[in-house]
Amino acid sequence: MDLKLPTASQIKGKRVIIRLDLNSQETDKIHYRLLSTQKTISFLLKNKAKTIVVLAHLGRPESDKHSFKINQFDLYNEKLSLKIFKGILSKLFKTKVFFFKYSIFSDKFDKYFNAKKLPRIILLENMRFYLGEDNNDINFAKRLSTIGDVFIDEAFSVCHRKVATNTAITKLLPSFFGFNYLLEVKNLDKVLEKSKNDLIVIVGGAKIKDKTEIIMKFINKSSYILIGGGIANSFIRAAGFEVGRSYFDEMPIPNFNKLDFNKIILPIDFKVLDSNGSTKYKMNSDISTTDRILDLGNLTIQQFINYVKKSKFILWNGPLGYIEDERFSIATKSLLEFIKNDKNRKYVLGGGETLDSIAQMAPSIFKQKNVFVSTGGGAMLWYLSKKLKN
Ligand code: ADP
Ligand code: MG
Repeated sequence: MDLKLPTASQIKGKRVIIRLDLNSQETDKIHYRLLSTQKTISFLLKNKAKTIVVLAHLGRPESDKHSFKINQFDLYNEKLSLKIFKGILSKLFKTKVFFFKYSIFSDKFDKYFNAKKLPRIILLENMRFYLGEDNNDINFAKRLSTIGDVFIDEAFSVCHRKVATNTAITKLLPSFFGFNYLLEVKNLDKVLEKSKNDLIVIVGGAKIKDKTEIIMKFINKSSYILIGGGIANSFIRAAGFEVGRSYFDEMPIPNFNKLDFNKIILPIDFKVLDSNGSTKYKMNSDISTTDRILDLGNLTIQQFINYVKKSKFILWNGPLGYIEDERFSIATKSLLEFIKNDKNRKYVLGGGETLDSIAQMAPSIFKQKNVFVSTGGGAMLWYLSKKLKN
């Protein structure tokens, strides 16, 4: 892949379509992902791009029961509308932002974009409101491409998925990458050169389907894979343990019986919420049908930290528990505390809620020299798994 930034002359006077990742939690006071888009947007404004059309996504409308087909959107969902970003972006980029709330398949779209004079920055509605996005549909991309002269991909965190706004569209317009995308690639490549040995991968969070496949790619490339968070529930359930009312994925884990569990390390105890609404610490084998597993137990936390101590290079994506509730953020917080005080090992951390937990629990990590914080979670793991040779 030829990763190129556009030059000033390639964007001057042009209508630039840019794919961003705006998924930034309200509790991420640092807004790491939003800030990471700023350099490219400033570059476009300064070098007189005529209009900047922002494409982005929010959440997963296809798996939300409140999404419905309306007004030429396939999956409209008020809660996942990007309209809230109009004010945020306009403050961040110090320029007025217009939010175009209609579908790209509406007559209003043609009419609006046919006008001679357009605002400097236009934000389109959530790209995942269209089935064409996830299907990498060329006709969907064609519709978007009619309003731009060039395309810039500044959404590193989506690079592990082939979607219309990072793949199909590049077949239709001269395409480039943004500053942050290139910075991610440069930093991740640098980390790999220095830290090929004694790698461990820690994966938590909730996107089981997304992440299991990527985790498997590390089996021959790392010493251990530690699994926590919601993902661990699916694994221990597959191993025959009760998980009660915990979050898990119905989909079977591919080739589960062939996995090497000397390498894949599963939790041995948990902090659960029981049917009376009280919290309890339980071993794997003691989970009851009404319990909800929401955090790792103390033995597992200690075990995970011991694995970290034995390694030199640690990749971590996904919170180890339900961090939205303070009672269940202990595992995530303990690991962050360890990292915060460790100057000896190399760390690469990334992911939406992972950034959020760093911002809330240990913000000094953003500035720590031996830690690279990536805007991508699944994307970061995917990129590294492709590049690592063992
Ligand atoms: P990231 O964005 O960092 O890649 P994910 O999106 O995969 O992470 O998952 C983050 C979410 O996982 C958080 O909102 C957190 O509450 C949830 N989570 C972690 N552990 C559990 C658990 N045991 N039960 C339910 N949800 C969990
Ligand atoms: Mg997330």
